[in-house]
Amino acid sequence: MKAAVVTAPGDWAVLDVADPVPGPGEVVVEVERCGICGTDLHVVDGDAGSLAYPVIPGHEFSAHVVALGAGVTHPALGTFVVVDPMVFCGHCVQCRSGWTNLCVTGGGLGTTADGAFARYVKVQANQCEPVPESVPAEWAPLTEPLSCVLHALDRIGPVLGTDTLVIGAGPAGLMLTRMLSLGGARVDVVERRPERLQSAPAFGADRTATSTDQLDRERGWGLVVDATGNAAAIQEGLSLVRRAGTFAVFGVSHAAAKVEISPYDIFKRELTIVGSNSVRHSFGRALRALAGGRVPGDKLLDEPVPLGEIATALRRTRDGSGLKATVLPGTA
Ligand SMILES: [Zn+2]
Ligand SMILES: [Zn+2]
Repeated sequence: MKAAVVTAPGDWAVLDVADPVPGPGEVVVEVERCGICGTDLHVVDGDAGSLAYPVIPGHEFSAHVVALGAGVTHPALGTFVVVDPMVFCGHCVQCRSGWTNLCVTGGGLGTTADGAFARYVKVQANQCEPVPESVPAEWAPLTEPLSCVLHALDRIGPVLGTDTLVIGAGPAGLMLTRMLSLGGARVDVVERRPERLQSAPAFGADRTATSTDQLDRERGWGLVVDATGNAAAIQEGLSLVRRAGTFAVFGVSHAAAKVEISPYDIFKRELTIVGSNSVRHSFGRALRALAGGRVPGDKLLDEPVPLGEIATALRRTRDGSGLKATVLPGTA
């Protein structure tokens, strides 16, 4: 099969590789569409922590089940599914306490195991969710990024009536804005590229700006959420949290990025800093939110490109032009 393979940090190509074969409890799925996000760029660049190369990136995908491993009865052959990409052992102290996203030996499809920038991918059968007919097929790859957003909201807790600032209006920032506003927050969005702010009101943004100087909010915001992973944006965002407020780290930074934190300031302002890492018991809920029309998927998706043109889609994701880029791995 054809796959976009990262052979070493910074080095990738579309290559012919062996088709995957399902083991016990696994299925092989034929990928229909796969979204691209910042994490894929970190895998390509080699700054996502210690990963083993070569690896095929891609973790936001929809697919049809084409082969069943031993003992698999569900999902049936031919089922159209989305796949929770988390990889975890199930028996470490984190997994046994329900934190499978923080498994001590865990990872994910597209990072520590081969992902979906490929025609076929091997996945755990019990991590497949059949896509209901009420979800437009082209929206299905949004399930994974939306499930990360729902996990962030689980981590943050109730937001009813909270003045909130979302930093970044890419696809993740817009989905965060939507879910925070559905949760009752009043959401301002800051994004330095003005063209990205245009659809923010349709996602529930109260106000939008290209700089926080343009947004006066009395003594800052009760909740500030970073959806950029940019260290300078995070540094500024921390200073904008109101006393007793919360800062949530949602965007994925370079593994080596640093910001300055003053312990005295955390003490004095009684700040809460919340991390949110991937997907935890939020995948099925995200799919149901999409099925319920909670997210205007059509406003998030660029025209998909064939696998042979994935370089264009990666570049658009890197420079922030367009929104959610997607590839069609079955077309050359
Ligand atoms: Zn992603
Ligand atoms: Zn584990």
